[in-house]
Amino acid sequence: MKLSHIEHIGIAVNDLNEAIPYYENILGLKCYSVEEVKDQKVKTAFFKIGQTKLELLESTSPEGPIAKFIEKRGQGIHHIAFAVDGIENALSEAKEKGVSLIDQKPRKGAEGLDIAFLHPKSTFGVLTEFCEDNNKS
Ligand code: ZN
Repeated sequence: MKLSHIEHIGIAVNDLNEAIPYYENILGLKCYSVEEVKDQKVKTAFFKIGQTKLELLESTSPEGPIAKFIEKRGQGIHHIAFAVDGIENALSEAKEKGVSLIDQKPRKGAEGLDIAFLHPKSTFGVLTEFCEDNNKS
């Protein structure tokens, strides 16, 4: 498979409105987008640093995956996302090599990217996301 760079790092927070000022006022980054991803029960806020983004994640439901994560492990780094050329091939290659997939097929994530997650039990504890921008003209 061919990974090109770290597309983003996902960070679970209790409250976007409390976390965003830290990134803006102390780190000097600019939040350029806030978006709700309904099927994941999250609200996301994006910052860009070089070609990598930070994706803050706030749960919109106590049943959502981010709420569950924070309950178990507290706020903090939730996942790492690699930009990949050919996400379908990367997924089937990972599967062939014995990695458990959370998503058997890519689905639409924030910013319209095609995304899929690998299971952290196969990735030494790091929830791993592949993403590919197939909207480029
Ligand atoms: Zn992500």
